[in-house]
Amino acid sequence: MKRASHSDIRGAVFDLVVVGGGITGAAVARDAAARGLEVLLVEKDDFAAGTSSRSSKLIHGGLRYLETYQFHLVAEALREREVSLRTAPHRAHIMPFLYLVYEGDPYPLRMLNFALTFYDAASGAWRKRRHRMLKPDDIVRLEPEVRRDGLLGGALFFDVATDDARLTLDVVEAASQQGCLVMNHAEVVDLLRTQSGQVVGVVVEDQLSGARLNVGAKQVVNATGPWTDRLRQIESGVPAAGVRPAKGVHITLRQADFPLTDHALFLRSPTDGRVVWPIPATEPGLVYVGTTDTDYTGAPDDVAPTTEDIDYLLAVANHALPGAQVDRSHIVGSWAGLRPLVPPRPGTNNDKASREHRIDEGPGGMLSISGGKLTTARVMGAQVVDAASRLLRTRRSLRPSDTATARLPGSDVASYDSIRSLCRVAEVPDHLTESWLRRYGSRAEQVLQRWESDPAAREMLGDSGMSRAELAYMVEHEAVHSLQDLLVRRTSAFFWRADGGLDPAVVAELGDLLGWSEAQREAEVTAYRRLLTAHRYD
Ligand code: FAD
Repeated sequence: MKRASHSDIRGAVFDLVVVGGGITGAAVARDAAARGLEVLLVEKDDFAAGTSSRSSKLIHGGLRYLETYQFHLVAEALREREVSLRTAPHRAHIMPFLYLVYEGDPYPLRMLNFALTFYDAASGAWRKRRHRMLKPDDIVRLEPEVRRDGLLGGALFFDVATDDARLTLDVVEAASQQGCLVMNHAEVVDLLRTQSGQVVGVVVEDQLSGARLNVGAKQVVNATGPWTDRLRQIESGVPAAGVRPAKGVHITLRQADFPLTDHALFLRSPTDGRVVWPIPATEPGLVYVGTTDTDYTGAPDDVAPTTEDIDYLLAVANHALPGAQVDRSHIVGSWAGLRPLVPPRPGTNNDKASREHRIDEGPGGMLSISGGKLTTARVMGAQVVDAASRLLRTRRSLRPSDTATARLPGSDVASYDSIRSLCRVAEVPDHLTESWLRRYGSRAEQVLQRWESDPAAREMLGDSGMSRAELAYMVEHEAVHSLQDLLVRRTSAFFWRADGGLDPAVVAELGDLLGWSEAQREAEVTAYRRLLTAHRYD
């Protein structure tokens, strides 16, 4: 994908301008472009820089929402989980979960069996993956370090792990392949309106050059997640309260310190009985533990874990595997995100608040989409485009949405073995090949082409685990424009490495590729160090 240029968008009139490049905006843009609309997707920071890189990284039905009888939400999410397994197999990895039931837990084992029977059936894939009820000894055989005290039994069931940021990038790339123009580091700072208040476009500020551009739109879609109410306020002129942000934090631990092997755990926090989960990361040798769920009233750009969040999660970790006894010194990293929840009924806490989404038309005709989940973004995207096409009253009949069957870029997993063979012939170390396949799926072949065509590109950059070939690929094809684009959303080093992947060789090479001055290099490093400091504890 290429970042749109000023001449591409200045003064143009698009059918749809989608504001916000998280998973929701990406899904809207992809669906609209696939159905034949002219679309621009603008993102103030980087694609997935908001909540869409700060989730629990699961494509799941949300078993816990059955406790609040949200059968419809869970069934829809399960169907979408199966769509992801078919259309994005490179991003959807089946994850076995152990649901643990202890004395004093609110739901008995027979209810768990009933809930998981629904879970299996609603996914439509119960023949492939069925839950199994387990006795305490069976559980300890599977995960020897789990707490035995008071363990009554549990169940083995299945959900799906993903890389949320890269999933979002894949959806943006799919949109781009369908003709959608995409622009990260481009903030919508105002709306263009007629005298009667009708929204007819956006004012975009390019964060890289500082330039401001007016862009026309027959329809504007506000998909800004936790920032939704800001744009709504610009539209209506009065403060908006359409979204209630709830903060969720995760910490990363080494498997060596926290010996959970193959299964994620589904259990209750010792502090307040909420559902929490330690999950083996898709990156080898690591486990992450989440999540908290607290009201958040600060600025969405400033969200970060607090001391209380970290203590809460360490208590969860030590409760789950009592032999681990982890403390702050064992934390590799952490992250915090904001759930853009549709406000619950008065008196309802966040944990019980619905994860359903809502599409609203504002007084100026802007469509705002809020709520939902990473898992259900594809359906949300299709519904927004349905609503937009009614408002556009377009004479052109739109093609039907094909996103339930069209595969995402990089999803040709059947080619992995032949890519592995080609890599072996080109003397790419095996661990590098596997890391390329994890990051790019079948597009690893394009990285290999760079590796083969230029011997100098095989040079590894410090101890980043990244070659010059790979970095050049990301800059050219994945719209990398900052150190954080690279280390947070493209390589995930921010989540999985204590040093965040901050390596002078990487900074030097990236600076050369992007033409940074010395001052820009320093500013990039300082900003990334600040981010790391807010998320590290030694
Ligand atoms: P965001 O990802 O926040 O995207 C909004 C974007 O809009 C941002 O990138 C922002 O920079 C941009 N923006 C804002 N203002 C402007 C502007 N003026 N101009 C241009 N751009 C702008 N869901 C699951 O399915 N599975 C999970 O495991 C899961 N776990 C979660 C765990 C936590 C802790 C949290 C917080 C959420 C979790 N979710 C999960 C929910 C899911 O992550 C979110 O629903 C989803 O990521 C929201 O995506 P979004 O695109 O609506 O918002």
